[in-house]
Amino acid sequence: MKEPLEQQEGNEELWRTIFADGHPDLLKQHWLHRKLPLKPRCRLCLVPFRGIGGWIMRRKGKAQNSRNPNFCNACDQFLESFPGGAEIELSMLYVDIRQSTEYATGHSAAEVSQRINAFLNQAIGIITDHDGFINAFYGDCIVASWPPGFSGESHALKALTAATELVKKENIVSNGETIPVGVGVNSGKVFISTVTALQGTFRDVSVFGSEVNRTARMAAMAKAGQVLGSAENLSAAGKTPSDYDFEAVEMKGFSDPVDVYTIV
Ligand SMILES: [Zn+2]
Repeated sequence: MKEPLEQQEGNEELWRTIFADGHPDLLKQHWLHRKLPLKPRCRLCLVPFRGIGGWIMRRKGKAQNSRNPNFCNACDQFLESFPGGAEIELSMLYVDIRQSTEYATGHSAAEVSQRINAFLNQAIGIITDHDGFINAFYGDCIVASWPPGFSGESHALKALTAATELVKKENIVSNGETIPVGVGVNSGKVFISTVTALQGTFRDVSVFGSEVNRTARMAAMAKAGQVLGSAENLSAAGKTPSDYDFEAVEMKGFSDPVDVYTIV
């Protein structure tokens, strides 16, 4: 079940610096923390939680936060102290498992759970290896973004490359079988902000806006092994949209039909 999350506003300059321009302190931490093993890492500062790197950083007081395990103690505290967000241009993707219901009817709960964990581990690995920022995962769906201040200038190409890696047969597997996934990839203006659960115990960073809905819709339309995307993402990634097939699709929340490009 989804946490009831509340979008937060404030500290706009700070969040614009972090996600649009790149904050010098955070970029320095990324540079240092990337050299240290092992995954998983804090989503914001990339400090490792396991292996020798995790051990070194725990001795420096940077440990995985116990109630908010996606972030280290320092970043969890930062999200609490500086709630807010900013409207910025970024790239994003949604990836979800296809035919989950069909799989669940023929398999045990343990098998279903093992398959979902295999999907989450491998897909999150692909996304973070391409400098993506994980925004959320709900069961069999992951939402990730590539804010330029976090992921670099070539955010659109990185998101597009991660999208095509996610649908390669050999990349997302469980017990030797490909887990079928569909992906939607897009670039556009969104509101990226801290979120907090209504009971105040859970903090995260999420994306909001019609471009986010459009990405989710494209992922939902994608067949197993398919990546659907937008002309905006293709152009920003240096590709020529007219090289790809597209279809104009009616979408809730959009007055005109939206062009959806078949990328893979
Ligand atoms: Zn951190």
